[in-house]
Amino acid sequence: MCCESKRRFLLLYATQKGQAKAIAEEIWQQAGAHGLEADMHCISEMDKYNLETEKDPVVIVISTTGTGDPPDTARKFVKKIQDKTLPPDHFAHLQYGLLGLGDSEYMFFCNGGRTVDRRLQELGAQHFYDTGLADDCVGLELVVDPWIDGLWLALKEALHLQKEKEGMNSAVDAVSSSLSPTLHTVHELNLSSEIQNLKLEDGGARGSDILSQKLDDINLVAPARDTEPSLVHSVPPVSQSALNIPALPPEYIEVQFQDAQDEVSHNSCPLLVSHLATAAMGTFCQAQLKLVCFEVHQVEVWISPNRDSLPFKEGLNPHLPSLISEGTTFEVPVTKAVQLTREDAIKTALLLELDIADTAFEYQPGDAFCVICPNNGSEVEELLHILGLSEKGDNLVCVKVKQGTKKKGASRPQHIPERSTLKFILNWCLEIRAIPKKAFLRALVECTSDASEKRRLQELCSRQGASDYTRFIRDSNVCLLDLLHAFPSCKPSLSLLIEHLPKLQARSYSVSSSNLYQPGRLCFVFNVVEFPASPSRPVSRKGVCTGWLAELVAPLLHPSKSTLDTKGESSSTEKITIFPRPNNAFHLPADPSVPFIMVGPGTGISPFIGFLQHRQKLREQHPDWKFGETWLFFGCRHQDRDYLFKDELRCFLENGTLTYLKVCFSRDSSTAEVAPPKYVQDVLRLCAKEVARVLLKDRGYFYVCGDKKHMADDVSDAVVDILSMEMEADKLEAMKILAMLREAKRYLQDVWS
Ligand code: FAD
Repeated sequence: MCCESKRRFLLLYATQKGQAKAIAEEIWQQAGAHGLEADMHCISEMDKYNLETEKDPVVIVISTTGTGDPPDTARKFVKKIQDKTLPPDHFAHLQYGLLGLGDSEYMFFCNGGRTVDRRLQELGAQHFYDTGLADDCVGLELVVDPWIDGLWLALKEALHLQKEKEGMNSAVDAVSSSLSPTLHTVHELNLSSEIQNLKLEDGGARGSDILSQKLDDINLVAPARDTEPSLVHSVPPVSQSALNIPALPPEYIEVQFQDAQDEVSHNSCPLLVSHLATAAMGTFCQAQLKLVCFEVHQVEVWISPNRDSLPFKEGLNPHLPSLISEGTTFEVPVTKAVQLTREDAIKTALLLELDIADTAFEYQPGDAFCVICPNNGSEVEELLHILGLSEKGDNLVCVKVKQGTKKKGASRPQHIPERSTLKFILNWCLEIRAIPKKAFLRALVECTSDASEKRRLQELCSRQGASDYTRFIRDSNVCLLDLLHAFPSCKPSLSLLIEHLPKLQARSYSVSSSNLYQPGRLCFVFNVVEFPASPSRPVSRKGVCTGWLAELVAPLLHPSKSTLDTKGESSSTEKITIFPRPNNAFHLPADPSVPFIMVGPGTGISPFIGFLQHRQKLREQHPDWKFGETWLFFGCRHQDRDYLFKDELRCFLENGTLTYLKVCFSRDSSTAEVAPPKYVQDVLRLCAKEVARVLLKDRGYFYVCGDKKHMADDVSDAVVDILSMEMEADKLEAMKILAMLREAKRYLQDVWS
């Protein structure tokens, strides 16, 4: 690498959950190796940079949150650039490259990045590098890695041009011809947002095609495999020299544990000096290896048995709510639990009732709220055992930023208290079920002593192992424990887990009640998520939150004599911690005379029970008001096993709260000559005329709730077909109408996976 003085570029990130920041940090770290220097800031730190006068190239990494919004940290920035008085050449001096992060399972994929990109273009800024849009649904790395690879060449060219512009003749570094960017080019369509979000031809899926193509191009030969490949497969250990890696001096970072005698023992773990990003397998030797140094540990962890210095005693840590939510939290008793499905139903749906009477918690029907849940207790015990820390679970842990860390802006992760216990961190703070990212696998390589296990881990996090990573890690939903079972010689340190495992997120649930109908009560409904055993997961598991809730309320569902009160009703002292989820347009129309359609198969019916309860109460209280018609489309597998709220719906129909109820059963066999509709979208199509009338003529509302993966798209496809048929318009026109309905907040979705 040429030692010419480093050239600067401005690196801005806008992050919601930390991914954009982590990627910016990776760019920052790699810049040095390319003779470049990144001046990195969070986009919100507007006093630290000035785009109005910026001459150097700008790199922006920005995620998307909510329904296509830029992250909270970018709000001020977006507001500023959206100022309508800015002239079209406001940023004519600016050259930039933008990497957007998103999830194509959500509406308005990468809209945070797209919004900023579009506006910068409108203000005259120039791309020095094509925009990348990375999709968390298929793996951010499919776009992020090649985008970063290509960035260096583009940056150097941009800096070169800039130098020329400045009248300086010295050339920038000779550029390595091996850097050939594989880009995920954005083709923006000049259509409404609805249409822009149709899958673009050059979309995420193609990212992986490009990647596989790239692998084919360099003619790599995969090592021989068993006919049935698995997470771990045996490959001959390959020495460093065989991989053409120059020998590097061993460097060590110390992680300090304070043992029972208060002596400090040194449990050293080698610094990961070789980032085997481009090749790892023995037969992949010809591919050129890149060596990028990065520091593994930013944090130091101390474990001490001295519990006197704990900031809290037993029970729920008072820090917990503030760690998990920025708002106010409420600890509320669970007063009722009802199993809504029969024992032989494929999924178990439970309804829980919470007593919020003594709290200031407020909600409207249609709102969602969050439940703070811990990890599964036996998984935490197992993890402690594997880490060799079983005896230290209750010891005090102090987490600090490592002194002298070179990582810019290194800080203790905000979701880890400075002082707590080991069990607290593993129970309440870290998402131990998270699918390990490649960077985590890379770090685990260095904690693995067995050569073939090490090798396999290297493969899984290498570029060439991308399809294996997708197949065996991402698609198999492998978590840390599964990995540690598959790679028994891998012994990561606690600080490594703290650095790599994301924050344990609170889970959201839609309210299934009305405060008008049941004052002081809040109900919600959920399916207990089940993950069966598989080749990569020897034991079956339940969802983190739903599994925990099901266990917590088991005494209410199956009351024993000891839990029955004097009236023979079951009582519980169990409490859960909840907080409101800011939102939300998913509410009843303000004008009760406006008709509305509700589509909620399975547990998607939940908020509509709240709507109907509310509507029933309003009808009782205001007999003189005019109420619009109400439609509910519900679907489940079997009429007699999982038809949720069957009796309640019959009552709503009988008392006129619900005008039309349309139900379908996807797995019941039928002897009818014409097969009955299976899914809600099929029933919608049968009611095409009425649906179109409610939406177009009566200016009604349309609500969809439930599974985002399939149902929500199928329903919106059906609505497009209905509009197109009833209006005798082409599909594009119908899509525009639907986009308009969405924008007017008359087509509303509350969907989840
Ligand atoms: P988790 O452990 O988080 O697992 C959930 C998902 O992670 C799985 O679906 C799967 O995709 C993946 N996963 C994790 N581990 C594995 C594995 N080993 N194998 C396979 N897949 C795996 N849910 C309801 O039931 N009712 C509601 O009313 C409701 N309302 C919601 C409202 C909103 C606004 C949102 C965002 C979500 C809502 N959800 C609702 C979903 C809910 O928040 C949870 O995601 C759901 O209950 C599962 O949580 P969990 O912790 O039990 O499962």
